[in-house]
Amino acid sequence: MTGTLFIVGTPIGNLEDITLRAVRTLREVDFIAAEDTRVTAKLLNHFAIKKPMISYFEHNKKQRGELICDKILDGQNCALVSDAGMPSISDPGEELVRQCREHNIDIRVVPGPSASISALCLSGFPAGRFTFEGFLSMNKKNRLKHLDSLKNESRTMLFYESPHKLPGTLKDFYECFGDRNIAIARELTKIHEELKIMKISTAIQAYSDGAKGEFVIIIPGKEHSEEEASYTPEDAVDLALSYVESGESKSESAKKASKITGIKKSDIYKMLI
Ligand code: SAM
Repeated sequence: MTGTLFIVGTPIGNLEDITLRAVRTLREVDFIAAEDTRVTAKLLNHFAIKKPMISYFEHNKKQRGELICDKILDGQNCALVSDAGMPSISDPGEELVRQCREHNIDIRVVPGPSASISALCLSGFPAGRFTFEGFLSMNKKNRLKHLDSLKNESRTMLFYESPHKLPGTLKDFYECFGDRNIAIARELTKIHEELKIMKISTAIQAYSDGAKGEFVIIIPGKEHSEEEASYTPEDAVDLALSYVESGESKSESAKKASKITGIKKSDIYKMLI
């Protein structure tokens, strides 16, 4: 009898977000293939589970995949977990699943949270049709090519981003999508969980000094963004104020805010003073 591969979702922050079935599966399998065994050890300790682990990550996945398949073919059951959320979603997993399929191994999914879907639900942005874009490439050319392919996307788009790249990425979004509304979900399910909805230009200002934590960015598709792209005079003043706070003169701030919002510079200036 060959064993089974269980793809197990784990919490994205709050450890209470693990399913009863995930805990039982982690208890019952013969071994766990984990992206980072130190991270998974903390999860296992929390639930008083002791289990042999094999590391399975980006740079050893080819050879480790074969080793894991051999063990399953020998009759052992394996749980595949990543550091957080669902394996395969911007995490290792899909290749192991493919390898197991090639060996006709039985594969089951034990679903858990994913930061992408959690952020989408929290944003209130159209969730009927959406696309998951994951991380943008570090390579400038590939990154711009990726963004260019999304210029006319009508579905809601979900991106992952690391904190140190967030300021640059927001500028790239502005170049590509113009000044749409975006939702920035941070530290979901953790103590400092927050969701902010603002114009991309405002986000550029808000995160110009950098950012901390884990982020999902949600951008509405073209059709929806056009409905939402009108600015009130209060939006324009808020934007101008953010320029003033970063050291610009009132006149220059009003000019910049006018360019983005379409509201007359003199009106913004009057409100500013
Ligand atoms: N497999 C995971 C999932 O299903 O969501 C994603 C793993 S990916 C390597 C890590 C990225 O997911 C982070 O850089 C961040 O963009 C996002 N992420 C993970 N946990 C998060 C959280 N608690 N709040 C916001 N974003 C999170």
